[in-house]
Amino acid sequence: MFNYICEECGKGTVKKKVFENYQTKIKGYPFVVDKAVIGVCDQCGARHFDANETKRWEELYNKNLELKHISLLSDEIEAVRKSLGLSMEDFAYLIGCTRQSIYNWEKKDREKPQSRMADLLIKLVRLSFKGEKVDVISFLVDEAKKLGIIIQTGKAFALANNIIPLNVKRVPQNYFQESQKNLRLAAKVLEEKELTIAESSSQELIGILRYDYKTADLSLEIIKDTFGLRKVDVELITADDKHFIKQNVKFKDNCILLISATEYTENKVKEIFLKPRA
Ligand SMILES: [Zn+2]
Repeated sequence: MFNYICEECGKGTVKKKVFENYQTKIKGYPFVVDKAVIGVCDQCGARHFDANETKRWEELYNKNLELKHISLLSDEIEAVRKSLGLSMEDFAYLIGCTRQSIYNWEKKDREKPQSRMADLLIKLVRLSFKGEKVDVISFLVDEAKKLGIIIQTGKAFALANNIIPLNVKRVPQNYFQESQKNLRLAAKVLEEKELTIAESSSQELIGILRYDYKTADLSLEIIKDTFGLRKVDVELITADDKHFIKQNVKFKDNCILLISATEYTENKVKEIFLKPRA
């Protein structure tokens, strides 16, 4: 595969090397290749990529999307089309591609899955057919998350949708008194005891996350009720990217119950979104 003179330095020889758990990007998305074969120059260290090998990575990536059921399978695409009672030709007209593309995607032993754009569009068609009200932006953000991409649709989006994003972070127990007074002491306390706090996007302290080891309930104790919260919808994202959604949660004893009977303690929370209810 390799063993040619390095084009970078003109001196060294490019030697085959196997990289375990090699992190790369396929079509712009992060992906880890089990065993990646890459040429490395024995003089300058430049990396050389072989076209067949990178093609293999792309195939692994596609297979992974299907295995993890991130992209639609061929029979699912066919099912969506048939649920609409459309021929391949008309379905192609509907979503803006060629009949040949539809034919290729529906083929049982297809070589390549549909493009990401086609996949997203067909998923939206499917949701819409089921009569579900589709929030397209949230849908797209969620789909990107499945590929390990977190897209912040931004303050403007949150504002327009009346959503309050809260940043969750760990601070030393004495955070409130100490702030910057004694950094060394703070570092020591950090090791010993921490609090998990939720801040607004303007870095204002909103509350403290509390995990009750008796009931296994995770709550947000509101310290400063800047937003006049009475009843909220909660979306919580954990450090391992699990989503918990709870609707119509009432404010009780200054607390919002985020998840009940959970193994997720306060230090395993990444983000919280609150949407006030009337
Ligand atoms: Zn070289």
